[in-house]
Amino acid sequence: MLVDNFGRIAKKLRISVTDKCNMRCMYCMPRGKVSWLNEHDVLNYNEIARLVTILADLGIDRIRLTGGEPLLRPDLQNLIVALTKIEGIKSISMTTNGILFGEKARAFKAAGLEGVNVSLDTFKPARFKEITGVNRLDTVIEAINAAEEVGLSVKINTVVIRGWNDDEIVDFANYARDTGHVVRFIEFMPLDGSGIWRSNLVYTKREMIELINRSLGGLVPLDNFSKCDLNDTNDMNYKNNSIKHENQINKSDPATLFSFCDGRGTIGFIPSMTEPFCSSCDRMRLTSDGRLLTCLFENPGYDLRNMLRSGKPNYYIKRKISENVMKKPEGIIKIIRTNALKSSLNLMHTIGG
Ligand code: SAM
Ligand code: SF4
Repeated sequence: MLVDNFGRIAKKLRISVTDKCNMRCMYCMPRGKVSWLNEHDVLNYNEIARLVTILADLGIDRIRLTGGEPLLRPDLQNLIVALTKIEGIKSISMTTNGILFGEKARAFKAAGLEGVNVSLDTFKPARFKEITGVNRLDTVIEAINAAEEVGLSVKINTVVIRGWNDDEIVDFANYARDTGHVVRFIEFMPLDGSGIWRSNLVYTKREMIELINRSLGGLVPLDNFSKCDLNDTNDMNYKNNSIKHENQINKSDPATLFSFCDGRGTIGFIPSMTEPFCSSCDRMRLTSDGRLLTCLFENPGYDLRNMLRSGKPNYYIKRKISENVMKKPEGIIKIIRTNALKSSLNLMHTIGG
């Protein structure tokens, strides 16, 4: 087992398969010209699979592929197939900006992908261009529909930034109600390459809940859903929604999920800034150049690539990983407590969100 000094057990691994991206989200990428890693410095699929085999032996059972934009890696379905074959790995999912996902959705599903989180911060084309640097809102919506069509579980990731897109929170809640996709609102974190993060730009979970309650009324936490007074619990729609909600609850997910009294729609909040979940963190990250990050705010992380390429045996790498995990830092909760918050504490596009 991978246990740290705070007693937390790592079970999930996020693999950033590339640092490259075909978008330039203002809250993520550095401004101006970005320098990418050399191809030779990026782990190949065999190296990733070998590390996952070692980590699965140590208790990691869920994998999320991310980036950068994971679909910029060619033949990603081959990696998915390889990872599904590793003993102990129970699920493979992906986080993507959606631009290239639609055309690959079926192949990914066939390869064994279980679910996809698609990032979408606005429904307004002009604003989409402003935030991401590209004019592809329609393509992203099509990718979300394609993912649903092939039977992938779909979630939408929405980073809310004060003054940028907080006026669309209710639209996103309605989208969740209309489409059945879980929309997860994420508080803006100081992982921006652009240096724009300020504490006053963080639109908090509490503010979002108040806003949605004022506009749509009746938000109810999913784990307390049966207590919603207004429900007619004999209603068939209500029953179907309740079953769906039960399946959506995942106790190790940092998102706290809510529905509405009529049972239609699920939304989640990831309050990384105002209610950090460091004490129950069960994840770690592998960067595309083979660094192990036990925490989002660790830099530069622990170089595993060199060990792989210098011929170290699996038992040695395993021991080094365990020692490293033991030293996992407390997390953003400590950075907040010690008043050390500032912009660009790490670069999300290189570590994989
Ligand atoms: N390119 C893919 C995408 O956009 O979904 C995967 C990588 S992206 C770094 C992963 C997630 O991190 C996205 O949902 C994105 O919105 C989120 N993210 C990026 N920068 C963030 C920040 N500063 N604060 C909070 N979330 C952020
Ligand atoms: Fe690219 Fe994703 Fe970062 Fe946007 S959030 S710049 S799509 S890595």
